[in-house]
Amino acid sequence: MENEKYLFVVSGAAGTGKDSVVKALREAHPEIEKTVSATTRAPRPGEQEGVDYYYRTREQFRHLIDTDQVVEHNFYNGNYYGTLREEVDKRLEAGKLVVLVIDVHGAANIRRMFPGATTIFLLPPSVEELERRLRGRGTETEASILERLDTAKKELAQQEKFTLTLVNDEVDACAEKLYGIIRQRAGLDR
Ligand code: 5GP
Repeated sequence: MENEKYLFVVSGAAGTGKDSVVKALREAHPEIEKTVSATTRAPRPGEQEGVDYYYRTREQFRHLIDTDQVVEHNFYNGNYYGTLREEVDKRLEAGKLVVLVIDVHGAANIRRMFPGATTIFLLPPSVEELERRLRGRGTETEASILERLDTAKKELAQQEKFTLTLVNDEVDACAEKLYGIIRQRAGLDR
């Protein structure tokens, strides 16, 4: 599709801050749109249907897959997560800049489906900083932190498969760098 160059995937290991960076990006540049994924996990306090996710039962999610309504999906931590085809297509067709915030596995699938998309791998400043951030959430057991850290290290090894990497040392600065990359790759800076 001609407009695939307007499609951007922001991915990275847990704890690298991809949600915070994309939130800052969209606050500063509201013309950038983010797709809403479908998930089978329960809403967390404060989350809203259609804003954070489309919350679906397993049966409903299975139907979405069977009827080809998701462009990619993954099973993570006991739940399904998937990007809805319509969420992507309607925005690209309208010529919008679209950002997907998904895991590393999903990014690989998007790359296959949309070869013209740009995939960005967000890096923590260091593994030590990543550990500090994971611990900083203060909500998890030692075993769970170590497991997440182990997963994160494996995910970090995927970075060479991405179009480019970006270090998240400070959220707003990183969001601005990301904006620069988006404009340039979308051909808006000519
Ligand atoms: P959470 O439950 O914390 O909201 O999300 C868990 C993980 O699933 C995060 O890494 C998040 O980026 C990822 N995720 C959210 N939506 C999607 C999606 O549509 N596809 C894939 N592959 N991963 C997703």
